[in-house]
Amino acid sequence: MAGEAILPDPDVPAPADNYLSMVLLIDDQVMVCEAVRRALARHPDFDFHYCTDPHQAMEVALRVKPTVILQDLVMPGVDGLDLVRAYRANPALHSVPVIVLSTKEDPATKSDAFQNGANDYLVKLPDTVELVARIRYHTRAYLDHLQRDEAYRALRESQRELMRANLELQRLTRIDGLTGLGNRRYFDEYLAAEWKRGVRTGTPLSLLMIDVDHFKRYNDAYGHLAGDDVLKQVAGVIQNGAARSTDLAARFGGEEFVVILVDVPQEGALHVAERLVERVRALGIAHDGGRVTISVGVATAFPYGDGEPSQLLNAADAALFEAKNAGRDRVLAADLPVGFPQQRAVADPE
Ligand code: GH3
Ligand code: MG
Ligand code: MG
Repeated sequence: MAGEAILPDPDVPAPADNYLSMVLLIDDQVMVCEAVRRALARHPDFDFHYCTDPHQAMEVALRVKPTVILQDLVMPGVDGLDLVRAYRANPALHSVPVIVLSTKEDPATKSDAFQNGANDYLVKLPDTVELVARIRYHTRAYLDHLQRDEAYRALRESQRELMRANLELQRLTRIDGLTGLGNRRYFDEYLAAEWKRGVRTGTPLSLLMIDVDHFKRYNDAYGHLAGDDVLKQVAGVIQNGAARSTDLAARFGGEEFVVILVDVPQEGALHVAERLVERVRALGIAHDGGRVTISVGVATAFPYGDGEPSQLLNAADAALFEAKNAGRDRVLAADLPVGFPQQRAVADPE
């Protein structure tokens, strides 16, 4: 059986899209509500609800989720503008368009309505063409707004995820898998960057080159896995011993570690190095009838423009070699700093 087709009002053009309007009218007069219902009934893109008890307006609005609210101003016991403000204050309704329907036509009342958050104003009863067109317009703006909000939220979320992934990736590419210290690559980058900074600031840069003593023998005696465990423990001591936020502890390779101490003169670097040697000894890891120990070479530089960070590395390495030759389990420092404070004055164009 063919149903009776609802013919659109010939005076009102059909919408060019399929935005569906959910209209909620708050008006204490049933006659007005019925008149609006009849006016909208011919249009398949409208769903219409009304509420004649202004005290229930909020509750009904939250349930109906309108795309447009038509709001009467004068109702028994409730000021329509109080309701408009209440919609604006509610997170679920605050951007729902409100068209005030009023019998009043004076500019002061209209101004009041807009100031309290109304989006539009119609004098009762508007003709159907105007009412329909305005509801469609506001529905469309509202739904577009929601869609943009959602798209924006999704975009922000995916940006955050990407950033998290990038940070994690960056962390992983900088970390030595066994010990959790910085890796060689990160050390190289860090040293180069701090060298450049030192050229600008004129502050000293110290480097500790650390090597586990007779470690080959340890591996031979206890196995490579036990050796790995020792490296982790030694790394822990080094990490804790270079505790300033600008210090960098890294694994240089094998059983060798490095520590960069930014803005630390030789004296301070020696102090840190001595502490590391003591603390590794204090771990008390049995080895060769004694304990696992480290040797440390210390070098300090006053970075200068024509200089190279590798000079500092070589100086620390040479000091380490001397510490080994002098009997291991000790700290030795390079005699002279790499570069001198005076050299900066020459390198500095100012
Ligand atoms: P020295 O006191 O002169 O430093 O003697 P050494 O035996 O420590 O020095 P050498 O350079 O001859 O040997 C280093 C040893 O460190 C070789 C290898 O057995 C061990 N080693 C290097 N990397 C690792 C590692 O990642 N894990 C373990 N378990 N051992 C490693
Ligand atoms: Mg070595
Ligand atoms: Mg060694």
